[in-house]
Amino acid sequence: MYGEGVADMAGRIRDEDIALVRERSSIADVISETVTLKSAGGGNLKGLCPFHDEKSPSFNVSPARNVWYCFGCGAGGDAIKFLMDAEHLSFVESVERLAARAGIQLRYVEGDSAAPRPRPQQGQRQRLVAAHAAAVEFYRAQLTTAGARPAREFLARRGFDRAAAERYGCGFAPDAWDLLTKHLRQQGFTHDELVTGGLSRPSRSGTLIDRFRRRLMWPIRDITGDVIGFGARKLFEDDDGPKYLNTPETPIYKKSHVLYGIDQAKREIAKQGKVVVVEGYTDVMACHLADVPTAVATCGTAFGADHIGVLRRVLFDSDERAGEIIFTFDGDAAGQKAALRAFEDDQRFVGRTFIAVSPDNMDPCDLRLAKGDMAVRDLVARREPLVDFALRHVISRYDLDTVDGRVEAMRRAAPLVAKIKDREKRPEYVRKLAGDLGMEIEPVQRAVLAAASAPPGRDNPPARPAPAEPVVDNPQSMVEREALKLALQEPVLAGPMFDAVEASEYRHPVHVAVRAAVAAVGGAATATGGAVWIESVRDACEDLAARALVGELAVEPLRIDGDPDPRYVSVTIARLQWGSVTGRIRDLKSRIQRINPVNNKDEYFAAFGELLSLEQHARALREQAAGGL
Ligand SMILES: [Zn+2]
Repeated sequence: MYGEGVADMAGRIRDEDIALVRERSSIADVISETVTLKSAGGGNLKGLCPFHDEKSPSFNVSPARNVWYCFGCGAGGDAIKFLMDAEHLSFVESVERLAARAGIQLRYVEGDSAAPRPRPQQGQRQRLVAAHAAAVEFYRAQLTTAGARPAREFLARRGFDRAAAERYGCGFAPDAWDLLTKHLRQQGFTHDELVTGGLSRPSRSGTLIDRFRRRLMWPIRDITGDVIGFGARKLFEDDDGPKYLNTPETPIYKKSHVLYGIDQAKREIAKQGKVVVVEGYTDVMACHLADVPTAVATCGTAFGADHIGVLRRVLFDSDERAGEIIFTFDGDAAGQKAALRAFEDDQRFVGRTFIAVSPDNMDPCDLRLAKGDMAVRDLVARREPLVDFALRHVISRYDLDTVDGRVEAMRRAAPLVAKIKDREKRPEYVRKLAGDLGMEIEPVQRAVLAAASAPPGRDNPPARPAPAEPVVDNPQSMVEREALKLALQEPVLAGPMFDAVEASEYRHPVHVAVRAAVAAVGGAATATGGAVWIESVRDACEDLAARALVGELAVEPLRIDGDPDPRYVSVTIARLQWGSVTGRIRDLKSRIQRINPVNNKDEYFAAFGELLSLEQHARALREQAAGGL
């Protein structure tokens, strides 16, 4: 059935041992470690298939026949095949894993020789997991030593007693270069295994040293409870490393899949049909101890699509029973990012995602310390649907006191409502959104329908108004015209201020061309005015429309009664710039909304920084533009 997979570097496992492993492995137990199973009648079990996307269970397990089969995608096999497919193990690794579970001592044959090897080289995963298990014991023993006092104090300060530390396997990486490395080498683990597993690393001189030193250690387990890595917290001031260090990517540790606490939380997650996502190891501990046993945390990375994949199988995400994902956040910025991300990542989860923002910027661990277990349970109970949370945040970015602000907020919010999977809920949200914006229901409804028919995505951003705007109807165009008139008609008065604003600040293309022509003849400040000045600008124009416009603007009356003064010029120029800056702010906000903050963190923060300085500039210009009018 598996052909050549049986014989590999590890040597061939005896056929009768493989048969014994098959016979002794309970397929229901093996599969239910990763897939939530329930009765399908007739002694069979069913669940959501881990190998294809589905909403109703077509993945069937027959404990009597010791096989599994998916009617949806056709995958199937025995317990060995399940581990190979689900955990990406080789045949030998799968057999070794099952043998270890069932307490079977495997015997190996090499080539034609039937002599069993005394110490079989096991599959790589098995070896790395064994090395981690030994490291857990080592670090745990170190936690009781004198040097580990800061680690014990750290745990105590955060409300964790000895029993809590033991339950989570907390340990201490000692102040030594290679104590763990030597310990594991003595236990028979090879140089390569320790490096590959991320427990040790080569020093500059080439000798092998411990990866973690002088840190509080949390073992990180996969869903089956195997330790696959560590999280390490800084304890000493003179440690110039980051606050948290994690195991690097290894063959068994993939941070995009890892959820700290999942091994302890999985049964409750399945039972309660919900999961609480917190931010750190201490938050997971605090939640579990406060009787929120469904808490998990990502390790050194943001919550992403792969994590959803891991949770879906445990949550039993089906139509029969909806699973809930509750994110807790201690600050609004993070919450906002996560909310936007959840919309991008997995639409199917939107309706089941909730946000719990803790009061006073406290994480669950702080909250438990300050206000007790009940406050942690309250935090989770007071969750808010993601849609409500996201709408609130989008709207809060706009000034609802202005028509522009309300319309812009509506345009940004409508796609979120359009994305709500449960169509029956949409009218409710349309009403809510209209109320929050202070608008009639009808335009909001139209905007949502429009967004629904052309869902915005990264390649298809929310519609912006067409760039071809009528020249005079638009306030920005009007003020651009006025500035150009001042330059042509009153160059002595307006010249210096006019020249300070570049062509790129004009939005209308014909205005850009005229502004460029003024620059081409040396700027307005050098001119004395009159027909010669107008002619020279006209001659410098690159296109006919601009030439015609120069003639028009040279004679069109200014929009001021009486003669223009420096204040009028200053106000006009400030309005022009303000229009340009707010246009750039609008573009930037739209861009920020489309940046994925997980994949493009730097771009996201850079855009935010730019936005803040533009907004500051806009405020100053607004004051200047309001001056005297
Ligand atoms: Zn399937």
